[in-house]
Amino acid sequence: MIKAILTIDDAPQNNTKAIVDYLCSKNIKAVFFAIGDLLDKNPENALYAISKGFVIGNHTYTHPKMSELTYEEAVEEIEKCERSLNAVYEKAGVERPVKLFRFPYLDSRKDINDYLVSKGFKKIDDSNVNSKSYIKSGCKDEIHVSVSFDCAEYLLRPGNTMTFDEITDKIDRVFGSKGSPAVKRMFRPILVNRTYIILTHSHDETEEMESEYWRKIVERVEANGAVFIDPKFVGLHA
Ligand SMILES: [Zn+2]
Repeated sequence: MIKAILTIDDAPQNNTKAIVDYLCSKNIKAVFFAIGDLLDKNPENALYAISKGFVIGNHTYTHPKMSELTYEEAVEEIEKCERSLNAVYEKAGVERPVKLFRFPYLDSRKDINDYLVSKGFKKIDDSNVNSKSYIKSGCKDEIHVSVSFDCAEYLLRPGNTMTFDEITDKIDRVFGSKGSPAVKRMFRPILVNRTYIILTHSHDETEEMESEYWRKIVERVEANGAVFIDPKFVGLHA
């Protein structure tokens, strides 16, 4: 059985609350990654997610390309977002269960991974995440929360050319219902027990292009027989 862990970046936005309500109704324990600047401007939907038991991780303060910053600037992006996140958790009266970090734009850098380890950050347990690109990019040896399936639904936003059909086709290709029976027989055994860390976003602009895209993505993954599982959080060499 293919397993999936849902991660949702760029929260909080206006559609975050509807996503939270939907995930609660499905009992899917997704992990949100918040941009500090958005937390400061509009904390209500992040408070709501926390009150419903969701974990919110750090996604920097201004969403920069971290590999283009100096080390000091990159650390400040993380620390500033930490301050915003801690304030929201405090306001919610909830103890932060775990510190998680995701680079914007699927970026990474070693010095910042070392910094995260020194500050006690953990990652989503990726011991069963085995996609080639995930392993090849060294994600298993890094503490940031990376991605093994990018829905790329952000490409629906104005100025891009991706259609929602192309996104559902991509889901079908990876999670399994497309392809000839022979192809499926060949690949099924490899896929068994494989876990995917799925990336999608809380984006109001995408909502305008495709209403409830997040519900459609979850349903499409499930329609292919994959099951959403609760994430576990581990240190680097757990
Ligand atoms: Zn992002």
